[in-house]
Amino acid sequence: MRVIQALRGTRDILPEEVSYWQLVETKAKEILTRAVYQEIRPPIFEQTSLFERGIGEGTDIVGKEMYTFKDRGDRSITLRPEGTAGVVRSFIENNLYAQGGVQRLWYAGPMFRYERPQAGRQRQFHQIGVEVLGSDSPRADVEVIALATDLLKTLGLKSLKLDLNSVGNQKDREQYREALVNYLIPFHNELDRDSQERLTRNPLRILDSKEAKTQEIAQNAPKIWDYLSNDSKKHFDRVQQLLTDLGIEYQLNHCLVRGLDYYTHTAFEIKSDDLGAQATVCGGGRYDGLVAELGGPETPAVGWAIGMERLILLLQQLQKPPIIQPDFYLVSRGDKAEAQALVIAQKLRTAGFTVELDLSGSAFGKQFKRADRSGAVACLVLGESEAENETVNLKWLISGEQQSVNQVDLLTQINLLELKNKIALHKQ
Ligand code: ATP
Ligand code: MG
Repeated sequence: MRVIQALRGTRDILPEEVSYWQLVETKAKEILTRAVYQEIRPPIFEQTSLFERGIGEGTDIVGKEMYTFKDRGDRSITLRPEGTAGVVRSFIENNLYAQGGVQRLWYAGPMFRYERPQAGRQRQFHQIGVEVLGSDSPRADVEVIALATDLLKTLGLKSLKLDLNSVGNQKDREQYREALVNYLIPFHNELDRDSQERLTRNPLRILDSKEAKTQEIAQNAPKIWDYLSNDSKKHFDRVQQLLTDLGIEYQLNHCLVRGLDYYTHTAFEIKSDDLGAQATVCGGGRYDGLVAELGGPETPAVGWAIGMERLILLLQQLQKPPIIQPDFYLVSRGDKAEAQALVIAQKLRTAGFTVELDLSGSAFGKQFKRADRSGAVACLVLGESEAENETVNLKWLISGEQQSVNQVDLLTQINLLELKNKIALHKQ
């Protein structure tokens, strides 16, 4: 029979890799919670129109990357291609703005885009993201940027670069758009096919084309900075000043525009040279127009999303996978001993120890070998005579020191405490 395989652009995250994911998730939760961000969990599919309106009809995502289908009730449904639209819909639908002040939210989970799969680019991928709703202060922009750099630094990542730009407000962009199109028209035939199409639909996106020739043309294009209103300029300057105050290095990049239509003012990306073509780990920016566009009250907002797969690729280059190291490895042989071992394992786990129980029933020698390989701190051995006397042989695997202990004694409070201390010492 033919074996069924995972779909193209999807992949299994196997246990060894999952340990990296858990590391990232734990650190992210820690760092975001310390800044009082709360987790939100919107559904994975939504009405298609949410993304058409929220991301914009002219974008690549809506134009050609969405997983859209009719459900059995003939509704048009889309698997979320990104997190912001769903969070904003939820913010509006649940009146989160009625609480006043600023909402600081984060989310994590799978996203779906029909793209050409390659390293760091999949059809099901994962993001961790934050959204701050209700503040137009440049400090909010800098707070979210600082959280992203904090997280990446805490994970030990180096040689990351922060690119920064301002795309101004709607009006700045309209004026700039005209100047940009006028500049690009004479180059029409030299642009790549996608960019030619974007010339009428979404010309700003041409600036961050990945085609070399188009990039060259974009480099010399008029810069949006020359089209920013005084307010937009002030916002942009303040963001830069605050980043400098925090010691966060950045470089200005006038070609950085984001894929979504409702971005305003700050746009940023964090990149790594160690990722090949898919270099961007984190992308974000301000989107002051989106909440109103989706039917909510005028609400300024800023956020980012980190691509988990790309982040994990970087982590894997950096360190071995974190492994689960048991405190105890339980070796037993014979019906009575095996039954007692099961009880002891259970009780030790309840007391907070990590315990691996050998289920093989094989000879002691083989079980001991596995105990060594497991990386356990200590081994507990139950043979026929231990089972008879209701004792257990406790062997410290590093020193080789061993002693016979009554099973009831092993599990008394005082002994458990001593064991905990001793294990902590051994793990140092
Ligand atoms: P790219 O230019 O690489 O296509 P993007 O601008 O479409 O990125 P965003 O929508 O800003 O990406 O998403 C934020 C982050 O999510 C990206 O910087 C990247 O790390 C990650 N990401 C986006 N699309 C994919 C994908 N198909 N597979 C894996 N990660 C992705
Ligand atoms: Mg993309």
